[in-house]
Amino acid sequence: MSKKRILTGDRPTGRLHLGHYVGSLRNRVRLQDEYECFFIIADLHTLTTRPERTGELKENIRQQVLDYLSVGIDPAKSTIYVQSMIPENEELAVIFSNLVTVPRLERMPTLKDVMRDSKIEIPSLGLLMYPVLQSADILMPRAHLVPVGKDQASHIEVTREIAREFNRVYSEILPVPEALIPDDIGTLPGTDGKGKMSKSVGNVINLSDDSATVRKQVMGMYTDPNRVHGDEPGDIDNNPVFMYLDAFCGGQDEGRLEDYRSRYLTGTVKDSEVKEFLVEVLEKFLEPIRKKRAEFEVQPELIDKILREGTAKARDEAQKTLDAVKSAMKINYF
Ligand code: ATP
Ligand code: MG
Repeated sequence: MSKKRILTGDRPTGRLHLGHYVGSLRNRVRLQDEYECFFIIADLHTLTTRPERTGELKENIRQQVLDYLSVGIDPAKSTIYVQSMIPENEELAVIFSNLVTVPRLERMPTLKDVMRDSKIEIPSLGLLMYPVLQSADILMPRAHLVPVGKDQASHIEVTREIAREFNRVYSEILPVPEALIPDDIGTLPGTDGKGKMSKSVGNVINLSDDSATVRKQVMGMYTDPNRVHGDEPGDIDNNPVFMYLDAFCGGQDEGRLEDYRSRYLTGTVKDSEVKEFLVEVLEKFLEPIRKKRAEFEVQPELIDKILREGTAKARDEAQKTLDAVKSAMKINYF
């Protein structure tokens, strides 16, 4: 039996951070052995909130591929490609836009969130269409599973409705995909402790940050706001420093982490000591990632080759799907 397919990806809006690693990248690295993975670099989706910033896309795409490769996404196993280089995606989106209503899209909870975060008062047609284009992204390689954050679950629901509606109206050719949503452990808070780590908020530690930047970010981190001195008992459950330690502390440091936990609870360790430990843990985690990134950074032509090959492979799939879609619709006149 052939492997089941996965589609997931990111908008190339900047560097990927530790939150992306915890919430999605580490899972992708695991999934790529068991599944046939398609990783989309969704540049068209950036137009919905920042149409004027297309000049950044090329460099952002390159950096995103470097982020992927540095954490172990392997182009020999998985297909990495650029959304806008697959025109069939847009054709599919136009077809699918007839299988979903405007009020359905207006009711998307993500629409309100994006409008608020990006200070958009009236949504463009493109922003309203976002879940439709995303449905095309997902149905294009006929993906079975879509690993996404909880925030994106409503979009996968629309994709399922579109696939079912297509199958009902024409014929049963589109698999109805399932969302693969990580549990809450998968959400990493920001360094400011105010919400999740998010690049537009700036409360991030990037996978590509150097040691000095990591140290600066960690030393400025929010801890337990009610604890003023190191000799007072503190909270470790809602404390971002300990949440990062839980996420990144490897096997051999588990014992040391346990010791810091109990000393924090009893008020026998300073915040700055725990932060020093976190710097050490993050450095251990990031060092091999930086090393791998540096190897690829000096081979820009290899990045282009990976993208060109991935995009060609994705386009083959897109053409197959579009042909099948048009045949089912009987709109393949020639
Ligand atoms: P922006 O500020 O532009 O929204 P972001 O840093 O929040 O960027 P997104 O592009 O919104 O990142 O995130 C894409 C996906 O990455 C999310 O759906 C989620 O799966 C994952 N992700 C992002 N931030 C985190 C985080 N802090 N913890 C866990 N997962 C995250
Ligand atoms: Mg976000």
